[in-house]
Amino acid sequence: MSDILALIKERNPGEPEFHQAAEEVIESVKPVLDKNEKYRKHKIIERMLEPERMISFRVTWINDNDEVQVNRGYRVQMNSAIGPYKGGIRFHPSVYPGILKFLAFEQTFKNALTGLPLGGGKGGSDFNPKGKSNREVMHFCQNFFAELSRHVGNRTDVPAGDIGVGGREIGYMFGMHKKISNEYTGVLTGKGIGWGGSLMRTEATGYGLVYFAQNMLETKNDSMEGKTCLVSGSGNVAQHAIEKIIQLGGKPVSISDSSGFIYDEEGIDTDKLAFIKDLKNYRRGRVKEYADKYPQAVYTETKSAASSNPIWDIKGDCAFPCATQNELNEIDAQNLVNNGVKLVGEGANMPLTAEAMHIVVSNGLLYSPGKASNAGGVATSGIEMMQNYIGNYWTAEEVDKRLQAIMKNIHQSCLEAAEQYGQAGNYMVGANIAGFAKVADAMIDQGIV
Ligand code: NDP
Repeated sequence: MSDILALIKERNPGEPEFHQAAEEVIESVKPVLDKNEKYRKHKIIERMLEPERMISFRVTWINDNDEVQVNRGYRVQMNSAIGPYKGGIRFHPSVYPGILKFLAFEQTFKNALTGLPLGGGKGGSDFNPKGKSNREVMHFCQNFFAELSRHVGNRTDVPAGDIGVGGREIGYMFGMHKKISNEYTGVLTGKGIGWGGSLMRTEATGYGLVYFAQNMLETKNDSMEGKTCLVSGSGNVAQHAIEKIIQLGGKPVSISDSSGFIYDEEGIDTDKLAFIKDLKNYRRGRVKEYADKYPQAVYTETKSAASSNPIWDIKGDCAFPCATQNELNEIDAQNLVNNGVKLVGEGANMPLTAEAMHIVVSNGLLYSPGKASNAGGVATSGIEMMQNYIGNYWTAEEVDKRLQAIMKNIHQSCLEAAEQYGQAGNYMVGANIAGFAKVADAMIDQGIV
């Protein structure tokens, strides 16, 4: 296995996030490969770690000062063994092929866990939507999708949102695709309600995360009721995780953005959450404003060179990192353990460093990897695709019922796969093994392609 990892590092230099994601999976599935010669013979893990296709393109657009801007756009079509490529689009200055390969690799496992026919992909651009006018965002999205349009399709590759890409951006991209393809098809998910979108898609990732946590707590005869919850981020995933925590009787006490974090000891209630949604989704402001509105809350600026993130040193029962990759390191993990946190549920993709994850798992905390606990978003995207295929809409209750059932199944699949390989209760190993087996078997059935 160390040879495979060495090869991955050599073939993908300067891509630490991709190496990290690869290493975690390679370690977890080692017992499966040891037991099943067919996976080794067919070089399944090596093939899974090589994208089926990577598209890289120039995106030119004009800003409000009439200056020509040049950005880079990408799509990583990682694996289509069990369905069309599916995965979000991220607009953030940190986007480069290594980040997208890690995300597309994780996505392949996540999508397999949902039980739906979805392959894995991810895309994005180094475009920074922060501080841009509506017109600039629209112009960028249109030019980005004018190129990507020719590589996607409702049976080929169906992108969705991610960091920096919400309903507004999906709308602009869909509009451009419709114009140049002259077709009204579900080529993107996360569309607006009333023009192809599914009820509950916006809520699904955060809600699914908390449903998964509830399932984990039930294995200990416990529940979300009365739990103090630390949440990072303040975007789509964080907002809806907070909403579901409140609905299940828990007390969310924090939010963050890349400038700093808020600690509200009294708890974030539905009125305060409405303020956060307005602030982040419409006014596009900073979380600092929360402390201006609610003076009992404390705002702390994040220091970029700091060795740890003080949001994870707040006393609580459950921690839900919902911002970005590697936002919680080994010092933060030790703080969670010292403070008696019982559960860490990943809302973001790979928010714990490898060292942090080992600390959390070895100290016996309930820990769910993002590929399992944030799969509710893509699962509901799959449900949006189903509605688009049949040309109908389901009620919010119907979609939520399906979402809850999918999260329960993923939880059960993780437990069973971990147990089968002598790692009872280890959701990380369980998620990797369950996702791997499904994709690997499909790849073998489909031959060497
Ligand atoms: P959004 O763009 O809606 O929100 C991201 C949030 O994280 C923002 O509040 C942003 O703050 C904050 N953030 C970004 N970088 C940092 C940082 N370095 N430190 C602290 N805060 C930071 O994205 P989403 O909520 O959609 O996505 C969040 C995570 O969840 C990502 O890892 C994404 O891949 C994952 N995910 C999302 C899904 C979805 O359905 N949306 C599905 C599955 C996973 P700022 O405003 O300063 O940028």
